[in-house]
Amino acid sequence: WAKTDGRHRWALYDPERIAHQTTRQVLATTMRPAVERGEFLLHYQPLVDLHTGALQGVEALVRWQHPRFGLLGPDRFIGIAEETGAIVPLGRWVLERACAQARDWLERFPAAQLFVSVNLAARQFGDADMVADVAEVLGTTRLPARLLQLELTESAVMGPAGRPLEALHALAAMGTRIAIDDFGTGYSNLAYLSRLPVHVLKLAGSFVEGFHEDSRPGPREEADEQIVAALVRLAHTLGLTVTAEGVESAVQADRLRATGCDTAQGWHFGKAVPAEEIDALLRDARAAEPPAAVRLGGAG
Ligand code: C2E
Ligand code: MG
Ligand code: MG
Ligand code: MG
Repeated sequence: WAKTDGRHRWALYDPERIAHQTTRQVLATTMRPAVERGEFLLHYQPLVDLHTGALQGVEALVRWQHPRFGLLGPDRFIGIAEETGAIVPLGRWVLERACAQARDWLERFPAAQLFVSVNLAARQFGDADMVADVAEVLGTTRLPARLLQLELTESAVMGPAGRPLEALHALAAMGTRIAIDDFGTGYSNLAYLSRLPVHVLKLAGSFVEGFHEDSRPGPREEADEQIVAALVRLAHTLGLTVTAEGVESAVQADRLRATGCDTAQGWHFGKAVPAEEIDALLRDARAAEPPAAVRLGGAG
């Protein structure tokens, strides 16, 4: 077993490392059959208009109800799925489930015109069948393409030219909305992005983290707010709308609203929840009609 001293102590027999690797391997080898067995599920997180507080859409976030390990978040398995290629069938399942759910909301709550935002991993985006899959899923679920938003990371879009760029144009031509996820964590160039069919920038949560709780912001927080305000102005000039992620407090929401940012997502407005809980929000909004808008997080 593991020698607890000396410099080779975790070379081969570190039990924690072995347990971790075993878990990874179990997850890697059981993922594809688990898609077929229906062990994955989606939670949905509200995307809210910062200026009216209205619920505009939801982001679909995948979870794995694992028979041995319990409910696993995507950070535990999306990376593995990308490595093994299981992201392709899993991503296809996510797309189908999310579009079917959005179609269901459209039928029961037509006034809300709720859109669904689906994450596409770089590997999925590079898959030759991806564009055809999206078209097919929109066809079979009868979801209007304008109610589907696709989230791509900067690196997926800024990667090597060729198929990914063609795919991006094909998806936009279909009428889906393209969002750049976690913007600001990579090295992408806004001027270049604006030449692509990209509609939404999702600012990484790290931007909002700097928006502090004190009523009088220090110079550091003010700088963070000025950076976001400048980004928002530039994005608007380029015809993009801006969504901020990771908004956890009313103070952050207020400061963010002052920057001109359009949409927000975060625990302040609502965590990712099962579809039934989004139903409840939509029902409340319908009961309050007019106005049709659901109000979250005390905005507006
Ligand atoms: P993401 O797309 O940037 O999703 C936002 C993540 O931030 C979600 O974590 C969400 O629960 C979390 N979050 C939301 N509001 C707050 C907040 O106010 N504070 C904090 N600290 N966190 C907040 P989650 O669900 O664990 O997802 C993690 C990542 O996994 C996602 O990041 C996305 O990159 C990936 N992912 C999730 N579902 C899918 C999927 O279906 N396909 C693919 N390819 N990737 C997915
Ligand atoms: Mg996302
Ligand atoms: Mg994100
Ligand atoms: Mg992320």
